[in-house]
Amino acid sequence: MAKRGGGKSGRGEPAATAKQDLPSLLSPSLTPPDHPRLSSPANDAANRIMHLQPRILVTGGSGFLGSHLCERLLAQGANVLCLDNFFTGTRQNVEHLLDHKHFELIRHDVTFPYYVEVDEIYNLACPASPIHYQHDPVQTTKTSVHGAINMLGLAKRVRAKILQASTSEVYGDPNVHPQTEDYWGHVNPIGPRSCYDEGKRCAETLFFDYHRQHKLRIKVARIFNTYGPRMHPNDGRVVSNFIVQSLLGRDITVYGEGAQTRSFCYVDDLIDGLMRLMGTNDAVTGPINIGNPVEFTILELATMIIEMTGSRSKIVRRPLPENDPRQRRPDISKAQEHLGWQPKTPLREGLIRTIAYFEQLLTQDGIKASLAKEAAV
Ligand code: NAD
Ligand code: UDP
Repeated sequence: MAKRGGGKSGRGEPAATAKQDLPSLLSPSLTPPDHPRLSSPANDAANRIMHLQPRILVTGGSGFLGSHLCERLLAQGANVLCLDNFFTGTRQNVEHLLDHKHFELIRHDVTFPYYVEVDEIYNLACPASPIHYQHDPVQTTKTSVHGAINMLGLAKRVRAKILQASTSEVYGDPNVHPQTEDYWGHVNPIGPRSCYDEGKRCAETLFFDYHRQHKLRIKVARIFNTYGPRMHPNDGRVVSNFIVQSLLGRDITVYGEGAQTRSFCYVDDLIDGLMRLMGTNDAVTGPINIGNPVEFTILELATMIIEMTGSRSKIVRRPLPENDPRQRRPDISKAQEHLGWQPKTPLREGLIRTIAYFEQLLTQDGIKASLAKEAAV
């Protein structure tokens, strides 16, 4: 059974929580301006006792990136509230954390308001793979836009620092290569990818408007393609697709000529970058590219995975999806300068760990059967 958070809000009204009843005891720095603050030596001592670790909300916390982030934050001694509606994330991703005394799992949809006392918010809630975000495009835009409004509203109310998981998709099919943060992008506003790309762009706008208008402490990370254990086995992303196809001896589906490029960042490096960004001083807002600047063609990736898995799979061509970006590589100078960060894990090394994860996953009968069923459709 998942533990429940104290402040689940159903339909627009912030739910009452036990913590809300004690705003002044929890953290002086978090007390919303409209709450009277009780300040006395005794209360200050209580504040210190009750609130030694930072409280951190991770939306989308049971997804691929979110689950790794929760794990790392707990390891650093934080109290972690993992909020998710389980659209693409699973309870299994955070099952090993459920008994941790500083971890809470909350089922909630970010398109509805939510209220809880926290010091920091990582806003990751949003399906990330093209198959998933195109499944219900209206909900995808709502998740990015309403989700951002709700989480920014929460951050404003409790004076939390807030980080947005933005994306390289804000650059669209880029005319500038590698992509620098000052490039405004080349995005189709009405295509099948727009619900994700434009939703994320609007979320960035909201973050910067809250920053300018309400002096909110914001951090915007533009995440480039990231891979690793706990990727969804059938979310259609290229790394998971090619590994699963190779391990099952199926054809490797290269879209188009496979000449399009991507730069793949291993999940541990990415999480390190996000946490460093959150830890920067208030002047650093981003946007900051976080990704691996080593670029591969999709054909190179397919060949590498076939070789590494020792698979007999053959490469087959499939039509290139509409608006598929032709090239993508981050310029990470800003991350190097402001975060002292650059990825450490070479693609081969990250793939070894990811392949091992999928090998293990595919020993589970249920997973194998469901993948076989999907392939037959
Ligand atoms: P994911 O699909 O594994 O995780 C997203 C999580 O958000 C899931 O757990 C899902 O259930 C949850 N979610 C979706 N809609 C929600 C809603 N309305 N309310 C509450 N929870 C909701 O994807 P991921 O790869 O872990 O991506 C996490 C974040 O990072 C996303 O915002 C994504 O846009 C961003 N990002 C990821 C990548 C990447 O390569 N993985 C690249 C760029 C940006
Ligand atoms: N791709 C592919 N075969 C697949 C899945 C994806 O050739 O089975 C290609 C896809 O067309 C794109 C690249 O791999 O050019 C990365 O796709 P993914 O969905 O992983 O991420 P995104 O397009 O969002 O970068």
